[in-house]
Amino acid sequence: MADKYDVIVVGAGPGGMTAALYAARANLNVLVLDRGPYGGQMNNTDAIDNYPGFTEIKGPELSQKMYDTLMKFEPDYKYGNVQTVALDGNEKVIKTDDDHEYRAPILIIATGSDHRHLGVPGEEEYSGKGVSYCAVCDAAFFKDEDVTVIGGGDSAIEEGIYLAQLAKSVTVVHRRDELRAQPTLQKRAFANKKMKFVWNAQTEEIVGDGNRVTSIKYRDKETGEEKELPTAGVFIYVGVLPQTAPFKELGILDDQGWIVTDDHMKTKVPGIFALGDVREKDLRQIANAVGEGSVAGQAAYNYYQDLKDRN
Ligand code: NAP
Repeated sequence: MADKYDVIVVGAGPGGMTAALYAARANLNVLVLDRGPYGGQMNNTDAIDNYPGFTEIKGPELSQKMYDTLMKFEPDYKYGNVQTVALDGNEKVIKTDDDHEYRAPILIIATGSDHRHLGVPGEEEYSGKGVSYCAVCDAAFFKDEDVTVIGGGDSAIEEGIYLAQLAKSVTVVHRRDELRAQPTLQKRAFANKKMKFVWNAQTEEIVGDGNRVTSIKYRDKETGEEKELPTAGVFIYVGVLPQTAPFKELGILDDQGWIVTDDHMKTKVPGIFALGDVREKDLRQIANAVGEGSVAGQAAYNYYQDLKDRN
């Protein structure tokens, strides 16, 4: 037997929680499913200084506040690792890996993105043995050590600044000679005495002694020289990938796997909406995930009313 709802939101990051809040506040019967703790990537973020209303707030604290706001409107909230979504007339049939089936006329996808791997030798072998994708989770293991961050975007620089609070030094290894990160983060990083930068460097291997990471090998793209940088830890932030595997068969993804929507967060399948980092777009921020969540929640309500009027 399937559990039936008006709206199912998959993913309880800032966007998913906002969409659920708007739908539940509009009196729809809402289920939120997530395979991890609510908050999504906010849980792996130390300090957030670009979410209005808070001069600065810890990621887990903002997650808790958003969850508390959502739960005021009493949606169902369940653990669920979604495996497949199928269409049965107007209903979306959602199956999770623990063999639960949920049905609703409206599905809101807010599954976000995950860290891209670098794909060099040593990366998988030393994952958890010096290679990390989460500074907030693992920084404490590198107290007073020399660590390396690979990448030049917001994540690399933000997490590099965080690591510098504990590590002896943080070397940012970037493949170009300028950072992609927001100017305000760049300014803080360049002013940080513990942070160093290696430019035009293509990382080619993560080297270890069998137990732990000991160095990285990179190629200087200007001179072609192969170089080695001793390091106790390698934090990899080279971009993100969409978490859209369960939605592949719906025909709503672009060729990179991101979900395509219109301005109302509608996909081309009636009753399926998507928002936040999982969408095909340029800017991935908590603030715009929340904005898109409100749009999706309201659009879901409008869709529900239309459906009711037609039946
Ligand atoms: P990103 O913006 O895509 O940056 C990825 C970085 O990794 C770029 O500097 C890129 O180099 C580099 N890179 C990509 N592939 C590489 C490879 N194979 N080898 C070496 N370097 C490689 O990813 P992100 O920093 O994870 O951010 C993801 C999204 O979240 C962005 O929209 C970002 O703005 C947002 N975000 C925002 C905040 C905030 O507002 N505080 C914090 C974190 C993330 P190039 O520059 O040469 O392309």
